[in-house]
Amino acid sequence: MAKHLVLVGGGHAHMVTLANLHKFVEKGHKVTVIGPSPYHYYSGMGPGMLAKVYAPEDIRFATKHVVEKQGGAFIIGKAVQVDPKTKTVFLETGETVPYDVLSFNVGSYVPKNIIQGDGIDIFSVKPIETLIDAQNRIIQLVSHKKIKVSIIGGGPSSAEIAGNVWRLVCDQGENNPVIQIFSGEKFMSRFPDRIRNKIAVSLKKRGIEILEQGYVSEIETGRIKLETGQCYDTDLIFLALGVKPSPIFNKSRLPTGPDGGLLVNQYLQSTAHPDIFGGGDCIYFKDQPLDKVGVYAVRENPILYHNVMASLEKTALQSFDPGGDYLLIFNMGDNTGVLSKKGVVFGGRRAFKIKDYIDRKFMNKFQQIEKK
Ligand SMILES: Cc1cc2nc3c(=O)[nH]c(=O)nc-3n(C[C@H](O)[C@H](O)[C@H](O)COP(=O)(O)OP(=O)(O)OC[C@H]3O[C@@H](n4cnc5c(N)ncnc54)[C@H](O)[C@@H]3O)c2cc1C
Repeated sequence: MAKHLVLVGGGHAHMVTLANLHKFVEKGHKVTVIGPSPYHYYSGMGPGMLAKVYAPEDIRFATKHVVEKQGGAFIIGKAVQVDPKTKTVFLETGETVPYDVLSFNVGSYVPKNIIQGDGIDIFSVKPIETLIDAQNRIIQLVSHKKIKVSIIGGGPSSAEIAGNVWRLVCDQGENNPVIQIFSGEKFMSRFPDRIRNKIAVSLKKRGIEILEQGYVSEIETGRIKLETGQCYDTDLIFLALGVKPSPIFNKSRLPTGPDGGLLVNQYLQSTAHPDIFGGGDCIYFKDQPLDKVGVYAVRENPILYHNVMASLEKTALQSFDPGGDYLLIFNMGDNTGVLSKKGVVFGGRRAFKIKDYIDRKFMNKFQQIEKK
């Protein structure tokens, strides 16, 4: 009997399911995809887009178009809650969407609770499309004054944003931009010294300051305050603090992991509701907590596709194996990168070329579906 598959969020973990959407339709199922935008932006190329190395069109996937041309329905909107008893998804608009099988790929967000006031000229690094607004504002400010840009957070996204803001500002003709990273305590503390040092050297040699003497307690337009009470003036702020999974699951009282992500078993299936699946940053993988990196979302793709189909067709589910160590390459913004894999670490132009090649290949593979 025909059933209704609902995909909430067209993120990195749903790419293969989206590419094969016609197969669900051919089997007589109805498919609805819910997302806040007709496009999904690939985060791996986000910092490069900020620097104008890539255009927004280079790094986005036309989700709505791909869904509709394969016979699915796309609802532009945000899911805010799900009721597993009545099998209903609730949207911000008040609209409801019933489902038989549901899969979440709603990602994560940067908490904004340290912002006081209206937050003008404060940009979070997610969603990635926010970086387009940040880029426009930086170009506007640089055109009439020397600017100071501050990045709150001391992890990889902070490092990449700093390096790429430097590139953007320099390309506007301003050669000595003031860029400060407020990393709380130790910059890139999750990473081994070899990686951290290469990244820090790359930034510092361009004059980017890394301040490690205390966490930021509050920010407002033009001002940063540390827990120590010390204040800093600035022109524009990026929030690159650690991300949190979407709040939908807590709100819906679904079982979650300690971070609030949807608790899923080895089948990427809710531990309480067999007709609910999920992938990417929004899940908490029960067997082994996973880093919030796109690599896992990408690895989950074939399993999510298989398992939502299996759930509709009542066939066997497949287990997800997170796999071993993954390749990490940081885009430093000056056509160099820092690469790390299985204990091998190197920096320079070759590292960025490898990242650029892999990222373009990934985008190209999925953008081809738009043209078919
Ligand atoms: C600046 C930056 C650079 C990064 N670079 C890398 C990198 O090089 N390599 C790497 O492995 N990882 C990288 N990461 C981490 C990576 O972004 C995440 O791990 C990855 O985005 C997770 O993919 P996802 O599909 O789960 O979430 P997302 O990419 O956040 O996608 C979620 C999707 O769901 C939609 N959505 C959100 N809320 C709702 C809702 N309520 N209802 C419906 N739809 C919704 C969003 O619009 C979006 O399309 C980077 C992160 C940042 C911030």
